[in-house]
Amino acid sequence: MSTPTLSVDSEIQLITAQSPDATGAVCAPELADGPWVFDLEPAPSYGPGASMADPIPAGAPRQGQLPDEYKTASKDELDARILAAKATLGDRVVVLGHFYQRDEVVKYADFVGDSFQLANAALTVPQAEAIVFCGVHFMAETADILAGPTQSVILPNLAAGCSMADMADIDSVEEAWAQLTEIYGTEPDADGRVPIIPVTYMNSAADLKGFCGRHGGIVCTSSNAATVLEWAFERGQRVLFFPDQHLGRNTAKAMGVPLERMPMWKPRKALGGNTPEELLDAQVVLWHGFCSVHKRFSVAQIDRARAEHPDVRVIVHPECPMPVVDAADAAGSTDFIVKAIQAAPAGSTFAIGTEINLVQRLANEYPQHTIFCLDDVICPCSTMYRIHPGYLAWVLEELVAGRVVNQITVGDDVAVPARVALERMLAARP
Ligand code: SF4
Repeated sequence: MSTPTLSVDSEIQLITAQSPDATGAVCAPELADGPWVFDLEPAPSYGPGASMADPIPAGAPRQGQLPDEYKTASKDELDARILAAKATLGDRVVVLGHFYQRDEVVKYADFVGDSFQLANAALTVPQAEAIVFCGVHFMAETADILAGPTQSVILPNLAAGCSMADMADIDSVEEAWAQLTEIYGTEPDADGRVPIIPVTYMNSAADLKGFCGRHGGIVCTSSNAATVLEWAFERGQRVLFFPDQHLGRNTAKAMGVPLERMPMWKPRKALGGNTPEELLDAQVVLWHGFCSVHKRFSVAQIDRARAEHPDVRVIVHPECPMPVVDAADAAGSTDFIVKAIQAAPAGSTFAIGTEINLVQRLANEYPQHTIFCLDDVICPCSTMYRIHPGYLAWVLEELVAGRVVNQITVGDDVAVPARVALERMLAARP
């Protein structure tokens, strides 16, 4: 039996209380502060955590000031207020909690899962007038695309974006598409396959899902990326995959696509930094995007885990770089990781390469196993961290008062084609 692990938040508080400059054990000691501190910064930022060094778009959504009463309330007070508001609202509200959220938020969730599981979970409660999505911006957008016309989707902190999703914006993708179309033309080949199909990862803005819907493309998740690529190769000679290069590369490589036929598209460079010949030979054009949480995992961490635990099973998320995926025993979505742990015989040892909140929760939920994160520095997702029980209490109490705050809406001009791309994904079969 492994010893119980503290929640990530509690551990950060403990470490930073012992050593105010806790860098080494924690990637940013500022994680011990309330996230509202970062809402007040003069320029938008992702805040502390894995994405803190990433450039943030100038127009990134900002969160207004959280009322003081929610910043100063104790944990117990917030607990009581959230539970009271939920009880008053009853089935008029549903709270969704992403796997990567802090335990202090997840404990109030009616459903816990990955982004697509949660968007689908919301469909099972059509009576809910409000869907409070404790996740990040693109997830709330997807929930709004799939939600009923009278449901409001609420993101408790508008600054909870996603640095990976922000690496591909609609203007850069439109520009890339124009250049690629010039090289490839628009004529199908003898088998009726069009020159190129756009594929976007679920972790992307709604307008990119809409772009895929308008251009014969499709959405994928980390669970179904291979099925979606097969769907695309049946209809197209090649694929433009965005925004995550690693998911695209890892998936296509496992399907037998040679690395030299996967050039990288760097936005704002002519031809994405490639020659026309490289692009003509391409099977998958990979967007230069990545997740700063999963980029932290390394082969050296895997080697150390194997040296210290000879029987360890290493499972990593496919957003990790290719050498890490190659060195692991398995790679798969968060759902895959959870199921692998559930199915393992008692006494198994797992080293996991994904966001620390999920790993520590699994370690606590499955004490019959030894489960630890490959990265021994505590470095949560910067944007998931922006949601705190204080914001949850605020949005719920506003609902009780009859006010909808922080609503995320996707206009029909985007939602209609985005739904087409999502429906293609649901219809794609292995
Ligand atoms: S873990 Fe990575 S992909 Fe997921 S929300 Fe955070 S930055 Fe985005």
